[in-house]
Amino acid sequence: MSQAETRAFEADVARLLHLMVHSVYSSPDVFLRELISNAADACEKLRQMALTDPGLTGGDTLAIEIVPDPDAGRLTISDNGVGMTRDELIDHLGTMARSGTEKFRQALEEKDQGKALIGQFGVGFYSAFMVATEVSVVSRAAGSSETWRWTSDGSGEFTIAPAEEGPERGTRVELTLRDDHKEYAQAATIERLVRHHSAHVPVPIKLLAGEETRELVDGTALWAKPKSEISDEEYTEFYRFTAGAFDDPALTVHARVEGRQEYTCLLFVPSMQPFDLFDPDRKGRIKLYVRRVFITDDAQLLPPYLRFVRGLVDSEDLPLNLSREMLQTNPTLTQMKSALARRVLTEMRKLADTDEETYAKVWDAFGAVLKEGIYEDAERRDELFALTRFRSTTHPEGGRKLARYVEDMKPNQTAIYYAVGDDQARLAASPHLEGFKARDVEVLLLSDPVDAFWVRTALGFEGKPFKSVTQGSADLEQIPVTDKRHVPDSAKASDIATLSALIKDTLGERVSEVKTSTRLATSPACLVASDFGYDLQLEKIVGRQGQ
Ligand code: ADP
Ligand code: MG
Repeated sequence: MSQAETRAFEADVARLLHLMVHSVYSSPDVFLRELISNAADACEKLRQMALTDPGLTGGDTLAIEIVPDPDAGRLTISDNGVGMTRDELIDHLGTMARSGTEKFRQALEEKDQGKALIGQFGVGFYSAFMVATEVSVVSRAAGSSETWRWTSDGSGEFTIAPAEEGPERGTRVELTLRDDHKEYAQAATIERLVRHHSAHVPVPIKLLAGEETRELVDGTALWAKPKSEISDEEYTEFYRFTAGAFDDPALTVHARVEGRQEYTCLLFVPSMQPFDLFDPDRKGRIKLYVRRVFITDDAQLLPPYLRFVRGLVDSEDLPLNLSREMLQTNPTLTQMKSALARRVLTEMRKLADTDEETYAKVWDAFGAVLKEGIYEDAERRDELFALTRFRSTTHPEGGRKLARYVEDMKPNQTAIYYAVGDDQARLAASPHLEGFKARDVEVLLLSDPVDAFWVRTALGFEGKPFKSVTQGSADLEQIPVTDKRHVPDSAKASDIATLSALIKDTLGERVSEVKTSTRLATSPACLVASDFGYDLQLEKIVGRQGQ
C-alpha cells in the first residue's frame, strides 16, 4: 500500500472512532463482547493450527482471562491463543478489519437512517475506544520469541515497540478506562456483562478479582446441547455474539442431522440487513466446525443468495485437516452444502406460512438477495418462488404471492404481467398500465435492480410465462374490459392508419414500428419494446453499461 493511501485510511478510522465514541445509540457495553470474541477467535485459530502442529499449544488449556482493577481504573483481557506478530499488530489493528468501513461511516453520518442502522454493526476492536482513553495490546505470536506492544489513544495514530514483558503466548489487551466508564473496572459489572453477552463462547472465560479466580463460562458449545435445554434468550445472545449483531434473529434453525452424514447446524436469519449485504464478493460467513473445533468461516457453506444467514455447522464426519482444495471438492461437504440450503429454504417457508408478520420483515430485508437465486439456482427456483413476495397494482402494500396472482387471473389471461423500473411510484403511474387497469388485470411492480434479470430467465410460474407490460402486443384484446369509462372512442380504421403512418414518418428510424393497441386507455401513446428483444428497463441498464 502506498503511503498516501495509508494516511487517508487513518483519517477515516479517526473520524469513525469519533462518531462511534460520541454516538449515544451504541451501548458502550458492546466493547467487552467484541474483545472477548476476538480472544475466543484467537484461541479457536490456535486450536485448529495445533491439529497439525501440537507443539504450538504446549498442551495447555486455551482460555480467556479478565482482570478488572478498580483502584487503577483499568481492565485487562488476555488470551493464550494465536497472538500477533509485529506486522500483524500493525495490519490487523491499524485498519478496520471488516470490509464495510466506508459504508459504516456513511451510515453513521446519515443522521436519521444512521441512527436506525448503527445498532446492526459489529464494531470490532475499535469499540474499545468507546470506554478507554488508551488501549495497549501486548502480544506474542504462537511459535515466536518476540513480544510487541501496540498502543493508541484512538486518535488515528499508534505506536509499536518491543515489549519488556508480556504473555508467553497470545494477547493481552489493556484498557485505561475513561473517567465516565470506570464501572468496567468493577468485577460485578464484568460478571454481569459476560453472563449476559458471552455466556456461550466456546472457550472458557475466567474472572480474576482480587485473590479469587472464578470461571464465568465453561466453554461448552451451545449447539452441542439438546434444543430443549436452550432458551430463546440463549439463542439470541449466541446469535448476537457470533454475528456481531444487535438485532433479534427472525428465524433460528438448530438441527442435529444423523444418518449418512452427521452434523449439527445452528443457523440464524437476522431481522435486519447487515451492512455488507451488497458487497461485491457476495460471501457468506457461516462457520465450519469439525467435532467442536473451528475450521474456517470461508467455506461458503450456503449459496450466495443466502449470504445473510449467520451461524455455524459442526460436522462429525469431515477430516480435521481440511485443506483449501478439499473445501471445494470434498463430496461430504458438497452434500452437506446442498442439504443446508434446502433446510434453510424449508424453514423459511415454514416461517412464511406460520408467521406472516415476521416473514414480511425478512422479505423486506433480504428479498432482493433471495431473488438472485431465481436466476442462479434453477433447481430451487420453485422453492424460491414460494418465498417471493410482490407489490402489484392490486396489492400496492406488497406481500403478494405468485400463487395468489395465478389464482386471481382474469378469464383468457395467459401470462403473469410485470412492470420493471427504478421507482415504485413512477411504475405505478406508468401509462403502460392503463389497459391492464381497465381490465382489472393485476401487474407486478418490480423495482429491485435484480428484477430485470430474473424475469427474463425464469421461464414462468405454474406454466404461466412472465410478460413485460412494455413488450409488444400484450394480448389484452382477449380479456374483457371491466371499467367502461376506459373504453376508447371508436375511431375509423382508415383514420387510425393515416395517423400511424404520419407518426412513423415523423419519427423515422427512431422507432421500428407504430402500432395501434388496446394497452392504453387514457394516454394517447406510449413507447413499447418488441416482443423478443430486451424489456425497456433492461435496455436502459444494458445501455448504461455500454454493451
Ligand atoms: P474482526 O474480529 O471482525 O476481524 P476486529 O476489529 O474485532 O475485527 O479485529 C481485527 C483483527 O485483529 C482480527 O481479525 C484479528 O486478526 C486481530 N485480533 C484482534 N484481537 C486479537 C486477539 N486477541 N488475538 C489475535 N488477533 C487478534
Ligand atoms: Mg472481532
